[in-house]
Amino acid sequence: MSLIQHRIGGVPVGGGRTLPVHDPAAGAPAGEVVLGRAAEVEAAVTAAARAFATWQEVSLSRRARVMFAFRDLLERHEDELARLVTAEHGKVLDDARGEIVRGREVVEFACGIPQVLKGEYSDQVSSGVDAFSFRQPLGVCAGIVPFNFPVMVPLWMHPIAIACGNAFVLKPSERVPSASGLIADLYAEAGLPDGVFNVVHGDRETADALITHPGVAAVSFVGSTPVARHVHATATAAGKRVQALGGAKNHAVVLPDADLEQAADQITAAAYGSAGQRCMAISVVVAVGAAADPLVDRLAERARAIKVGPGTDPATEMGPLISRDARARVAGHVDAAEKAGAKVVVDGRGLPGPGFYVGPCLLDEVGLGTAAYQEEIFGPVLIVLRAETLEEAIALVNANPHGNGTAIFTSSGEAARRYQRAVHVGMVGVNVPVPVPMAFYSFGGWKASLFGDTHVHGPEGVRFYTRAKAVTTRWPRETALSGAGAMAFPT
Ligand code: NAD
Repeated sequence: MSLIQHRIGGVPVGGGRTLPVHDPAAGAPAGEVVLGRAAEVEAAVTAAARAFATWQEVSLSRRARVMFAFRDLLERHEDELARLVTAEHGKVLDDARGEIVRGREVVEFACGIPQVLKGEYSDQVSSGVDAFSFRQPLGVCAGIVPFNFPVMVPLWMHPIAIACGNAFVLKPSERVPSASGLIADLYAEAGLPDGVFNVVHGDRETADALITHPGVAAVSFVGSTPVARHVHATATAAGKRVQALGGAKNHAVVLPDADLEQAADQITAAAYGSAGQRCMAISVVVAVGAAADPLVDRLAERARAIKVGPGTDPATEMGPLISRDARARVAGHVDAAEKAGAKVVVDGRGLPGPGFYVGPCLLDEVGLGTAAYQEEIFGPVLIVLRAETLEEAIALVNANPHGNGTAIFTSSGEAARRYQRAVHVGMVGVNVPVPVPMAFYSFGGWKASLFGDTHVHGPEGVRFYTRAKAVTTRWPRETALSGAGAMAFPT
């Protein structure tokens, strides 16, 4: 069994408590990860602060060159990274490759940092006076990330932070720790100086030490809503800049004029891909008017046909859940909804172990008050709700506390426009089920899906990892130097 260690100042570091890391397809431990204590957090922040002192002075073109090299290495090692992701997370290999490609696109954005970081300049704002503004890095930035995208979500953060001139300490999810070690190796091979990128493994204790450490200037967090709320409150109270992305309950609204075959295909992939363990997964369908019955038939047919198995098998379309607890929680939600009167149209409970499998579940006639609708299930469970009108559907979506992603399926541009303007959700798809913004836009939800002001990656990521400085200059001619400054503001 492998022992997965921290990466501090360019070297592997062990010590302290350990936790088993499971292979979800086998339902058995496959390795162990060390859990950082205050001492390892201290060592990582110190190494990062030391590295920051010189890294912030490195020219923009050299920083960009490191990112270009890192981007190529990510491509060359895509297979190796995908295998690490599938081994610990369970998702199918093609899906693991997909997350690496999406993450690499953020590195491609970071390669353009000299262009993105250009400041503003105003000539002659007053007689002989010029003004300009530019952005400077913050120092040591920390990232705390969830289990469901072991490569992509950290890549939303550290390439931009580092290209902007910061140093970074990453705390990966303790359930999927291995990929981050390989990422550290690839940065080193790309020429990034030791200490600019550090990895401290651990759990909530490690995370809390990191988000309250006086040497950390900014915290990026992605995970569940209760933890996002805690991280935002704790780290802002400790004086840090914070962006904390939380959980989701993403609704897809299907109007009767939609192409129902296309909608059913797209919604099936968005609901059950990665066993529903995506923050942008569709977990609720709101079928409007006459769309409902034919849509449920089509969704059921597709859900029943999904091949469930180990992520390493090329025939598999959906892998296991992350843990035994997750399997019990997901099945428990379906049990409780059924007891409360929901109709289990497709039942994925009861798949044989020892892997952490739950098959696709489709629930109809779900009461709005049931936990299955009120809470984020984060598993392969799709709930169908019915509405009479688009306005009723919009009201349902807006009544939900989450506001991460949503989609509408329709052939009416007017209805789509009405929807995209009215919903209180950060990312909207029109006939696109998983509307994740490209790397050159920014990713983030509204309401309980985001605590903080800035979204991640793209232009908002650059703003998050830098702060603005405005300079006003006067370079008078020798002869004009004499004469006292006016006491009043110039008019
Ligand atoms: P989680 O909240 O349990 O854990 C996230 C991270 O926080 C992990 O690194 C974990 O070690 C740490 N952590 C856990 N409890 C903590 C505590 N009390 N204090 C400090 N740190 C703590 O989330 P998860 O189960 O790993 O991931 C799934 C969740 O992440 C889902 O809710 C999903 O919607 C969400 N998610 C959101 C987005 C988004 O962009 N909004 C993206 C991916 C995942």
